[in-house]
Amino acid sequence: MIDVTLESVSKRFSRAGDTAAVDDVDITIAAGEFFTLLGPSGCGKTTTLRMVAGFYFPTSGRIRFGDQDVTRRPPNKRDTGMVFQNYALFPHMSVAQNVAYGLKIRKVGRAESKRRVEEALSQVHLAGYGERRIDQLSGGQQQRVALARALVIRPRTLLLDEPLSNLDAKLREETRVEIRRIQREAGTTSLYVTHDQAEAMAMSDRIAVMESGRVRQIGAPQEIYHRPATSFVARFIGRSNVLSLPVLGAGPETVTVRLPDSSQVGVAAPADHGLATGGTALVSIRPEHIGLTSATEPGVVTGRVTELEFTGMSTNLLVDVAGEAVQVAAVDPPAGIAVGDQLGLRLPRERMWLVRP
Ligand code: ADP
Ligand code: MG
Repeated sequence: MIDVTLESVSKRFSRAGDTAAVDDVDITIAAGEFFTLLGPSGCGKTTTLRMVAGFYFPTSGRIRFGDQDVTRRPPNKRDTGMVFQNYALFPHMSVAQNVAYGLKIRKVGRAESKRRVEEALSQVHLAGYGERRIDQLSGGQQQRVALARALVIRPRTLLLDEPLSNLDAKLREETRVEIRRIQREAGTTSLYVTHDQAEAMAMSDRIAVMESGRVRQIGAPQEIYHRPATSFVARFIGRSNVLSLPVLGAGPETVTVRLPDSSQVGVAAPADHGLATGGTALVSIRPEHIGLTSATEPGVVTGRVTELEFTGMSTNLLVDVAGEAVQVAAVDPPAGIAVGDQLGLRLPRERMWLVRP
């Protein structure tokens, strides 16, 4: 069942002719789904979320909740719960008063309100914290209060705008697991905003990758990781090499390219690749999928190590291949490998994927 629909939604903030902050966005979110808007700062994530919340109205396009058109409906008539980046808690009120706020506005009675506040606080593992003041809580606890405040009204849709960005790295990872647990238990359709690709991958059922106000790709994390639509998506999600290679032949699902060692290889490509013989293909391959070898055989290109860093999990190399810098992540590199060494890189064709510019 489709819960939230954005149909050709655009937002311009001022004079006609300005570039759109959100440009012709189409998204459908299924009931109970955890859906994430991911992209760099300024790409239009918050603006999109605020249009779903009703804080902004689109310049054009439609927003639907189920079969109801909510495009111009005010925020308090939308049945959404929002968690803001800075939490937006009332510092002079107790935890319980903060959480009860939405219920008070909705004129829920005292006894019912008390019960639901307790329930929401135990949902976020803050049972017994009701009488504390906000400034007596850690950042992570404040974040949970903000989540409880959004959940207590039992919203049809939960909207979260970079809710973890004020937490340190370790707590951020713990809290993202927590948010996902709470969301799953409550079954609430959720629209989540982050610029952190690891967070998006770990949490989401599906992700929309945004760039310059536009959605570049929508898909499950695995799909976006392994079959990125554009070179931007390939580079923004994880790390990726995007090689420009001459096209020797182009079929509907495979494009044959020439590797720097002059060998030919057929690369899987989306049906709408639009390439022809004589053109240049952009082929992405992940650093962890490139093998190091001393063998010389077709599909092995040679290069010179220009940078090397040990991260614990892998050794990251930058290898100069005919003037192009290729990233390699080797779990088990040859002993004694050093900057300046000549190396063979095996580029497995099954790990290559053709992307659009
Ligand atoms: P993100 O959340 O992805 O960082 P935003 O949605 O906040 O991006 O912003 C998208 C673009 O819209 C940016 O160029 C930003 O400067 C612009 N913008 C956002 N809010 C406003 C506003 N209230 N008035 C004018 N421009 C805005
Ligand atoms: Mg934002």
